Amino acid sequence: MRLAFAITALVTAGAGLVAARPRPAAVRIVREGVVEPASWRARDALSARDRAIVEHTLPSGRIRMRSVGRKEELDLAAFDGNGLPRSDAFAALRHFFRSMQGHSVDVDPRLVELCGTLQRHWPDRPLVLVSGYRDPAPHGRNKSYHLRGMAADVAVPGVSAFELYKVAVKLGARGTGLYPSFVHLDVRDVPYRWTGR
Ligand SMILES: [Zn+2]
Repeated sequence: MRLAFAITALVTAGAGLVAARPRPAAVRIVREGVVEPASWRARDALSARDRAIVEHTLPSGRIRMRSVGRKEELDLAAFDGNGLPRSDAFAALRHFFRSMQGHSVDVDPRLVELCGTLQRHWPDRPLVLVSGYRDPAPHGRNKSYHLRGMAADVAVPGVSAFELYKVAVKLGARGTGLYPSFVHLDVRDVPYRWTGR
């Protein structure tokens, strides 16, 4: 009991310290370039609700998505109670993310979790999938994360692409591209942001 009390006191003291730190400026939008990984300073800038979304330990994975081209909706729990991918859910996600030509690859669980995180930010709206998996082009460079099940172009009804971009960056998206009507998200290792046309 005494130990539990000590831990509670420490956590309380820690929370006080966090609140006392100066808040950094709003998320800076860079035109192009490598950016630093999310730091604790950046986390301090999150609202309490967003911090709770980011810092939960297990992926809840509840995700509601709608495809823009096909009239399809997806509403499922992608992860089980231990935070592990549910195979039936990921089979459905693989099909949902399929290319224009109907081909598909497994969707990276980190991308699914990122999409779920964004969806929890606007819990009453679906995340609209503009583009998921893409087939390699015969003569292209084919370096896109879309070819590896690691990228999604998404939008949220009633939310500007710029607002969605800012929230995605705050919630830990790594590859983040701002386009006029959607945001590109991917789960590359080194964070990178850009604006596109
Ligand atoms: Zn994209």
